[in-house]
Amino acid sequence: MSKRKHNLRLIKAKDSYSTKEIVELLAVHAKTAQNWLRDETLAKIEGIYPPVVRGIDLKEFLTKRILKSKVTLANDEFYCPHCKGARKSRIITIESNGIILGKDHQKITIKGKCEICMTQLNRFDTQDNYNLRQQEPISQDKHALEARQQLNLFG
Ligand SMILES: [Zn+2]
Repeated sequence: MSKRKHNLRLIKAKDSYSTKEIVELLAVHAKTAQNWLRDETLAKIEGIYPPVVRGIDLKEFLTKRILKSKVTLANDEFYCPHCKGARKSRIITIESNGIILGKDHQKITIKGKCEICMTQLNRFDTQDNYNLRQQEPISQDKHALEARQQLNLFG
């Protein structure tokens, strides 16, 4: 199984890479490297076949993919590097990192365990964002409770 977290620092911006060289450099499966090179958003050096890419373009392409995989998570989900997907955790713990990013922006680490493979999962956030994200489900529960109480009163 190939690693999801590629060490992008190994890629030299000024070098160019073939499929085989990407496989060796990043220790990914040949199929993975081939899929990257087939992707239209990854710029290839013109007039060369089999395709070759510039290090700088490969770096940008992989960075975008990492960012993209992060934004697809729901509020209560983690990215599991083992399953390579969004996963929920039964138990969630929150640790304060003690780092303040501007006013009231306490940095936190949300820790969980993948429901499927039990891998330890981390999600980084600020306390404010976390509080905001918690508000929606809490208010829904509150409304449901109020509705139930009203039904009891009049039922
Ligand atoms: Zn998992």
